[in-house]
Amino acid sequence: MKTINVQGILYDEKSSYLRGPAKAPPLIRAILKNGSGNSFTEAGKDLSQIPYNDKGDFSIDDYFDIEEITGKNIEEGIPLLTLGGDHSITYPILKAHAKIYPLIDILHIDAHADIYDEFEGDKYSHACPFARIMEAGLAKNLIQVGIRTLSTHQKEQISKYKVDLHEMKNYDHSKLKAFKNPLYISLDMDAFDPAFAPGVSHHEPGGLTPRQVFDLISEINVPIIGADIVEYNPDRDLHDMTATLAAKIMKELWGKMTDF
Ligand code: MN
Ligand code: MN
Repeated sequence: MKTINVQGILYDEKSSYLRGPAKAPPLIRAILKNGSGNSFTEAGKDLSQIPYNDKGDFSIDDYFDIEEITGKNIEEGIPLLTLGGDHSITYPILKAHAKIYPLIDILHIDAHADIYDEFEGDKYSHACPFARIMEAGLAKNLIQVGIRTLSTHQKEQISKYKVDLHEMKNYDHSKLKAFKNPLYISLDMDAFDPAFAPGVSHHEPGGLTPRQVFDLISEINVPIIGADIVEYNPDRDLHDMTATLAAKIMKELWGKMTDF
């Protein structure tokens, strides 16, 4: 029976503006158990029949420990879903995945490209993980969706690393190429318009609707080897709106990750 592993990374020390995402993982899991929804995905899969292996939540003393912790929670053939945490965690997570998976494409959904060479003196800031990933060659292709905050430096980085960029300002879902390699999905909750997801540190108006993201996930027809849901900040949420959206994303990813 197919399943996924789930780990929570309780870490937000590389956030540039507000702390809070370290508290997110147990709150996202709690939504799934609160009785407000059923166990079915939109595609009709009953997740109660394919429970995930919960590896638990991990407090992090040293940022670089995230790679080793993740390595222990990856098992060949069982995709790992990570609940964050700020977006800095994606670099050590990808380092761990790249040791097992030789070919990875990344679908990165975010308001921000997070590809600064360094940010406020920190090369591991949550504004930098995709610069570290691409310079280390951990992914073959990086596809970015939802971006609406590009600086001149980030545009240069995007050209340097040949990112397949789909900006929000002229977003056209039909222009995404079909995925062909094993995929890692990194979803920053601020990709959504703040009207749908107020519980994030960086409100960036003009974002994706939940519907657009669910449709994007539903059409994926390659194996998803790993995924993360990051940057949910409970301190900023309203009536668990953002936690509920994160939990639904978790359900849809869990369903899709067990399709292959
Ligand atoms: Mn991000
Ligand atoms: Mn972001």
